[in-house]
Amino acid sequence: MIRRIIYGKSALKNDLIGYLFFKNNKKQNLPLILILATIHGDEVEGLWLLDHFEIPWRVKFPYSNVNVLVIPQANPDGVALKQRTNGNKVDLNRNLPTLDWSAEKFNDRYPPGPFAGSEPENKALMELIDLYKPKGILTLHSFKDPQINANGDDDTGVMDLANYLFEVSPYKKITRGDEMGYPTPGCLGTYAGYERKIPTITYELRRGDHVDNILESIPVVERFIEFFNNKF
Ligand SMILES: [Zn+2]
Repeated sequence: MIRRIIYGKSALKNDLIGYLFFKNNKKQNLPLILILATIHGDEVEGLWLLDHFEIPWRVKFPYSNVNVLVIPQANPDGVALKQRTNGNKVDLNRNLPTLDWSAEKFNDRYPPGPFAGSEPENKALMELIDLYKPKGILTLHSFKDPQINANGDDDTGVMDLANYLFEVSPYKKITRGDEMGYPTPGCLGTYAGYERKIPTITYELRRGDHVDNILESIPVVERFIEFFNNKF
């Protein structure tokens, strides 16, 4: 079953929409897994991947022990404008109020915004995380160097999760936190994974790849949910 949730508005007043999937009406309050895509609006590969699940899960959601909240467009302005940033031209994944946040731009591609947590998309996401307290977060991006990026200290279990995904992922590379090769202050991995102890995987699909190849990561999404479904 599915319930559509509007959890806020973007900088350009587009609705921020989530889809809550659950098995049946008795199971609306199970532990929640959060899956999001297009925090960077031009990284549409994640949208293609999530599209695959919408209709089957609407008909029959296969998990009994967890619910899944899917946010296909975490940055709807960016998706509409085919750009990385939101309607205020801020990189949402450099704008969350993390301890390492900095107003300094590392380069022009990553404008962090006037202050930490300034953007409406991020305020809404932070409220959503406070409200739903997800047990795990999968955030889909795309990058020329595809990889499974694990965010969280060892005690969050995030490396067990990353290794579990690695077995089925077409991308045979696991990195942690900033090991991607450049600093990412104010990102969701740091905000949720390291600072709130929610095991968070930033899954980097191969940028610009054909949709058929992107869909090879379907089992990664399934495994992500199974990991928690087996636990609760
Ligand atoms: Zn990205």
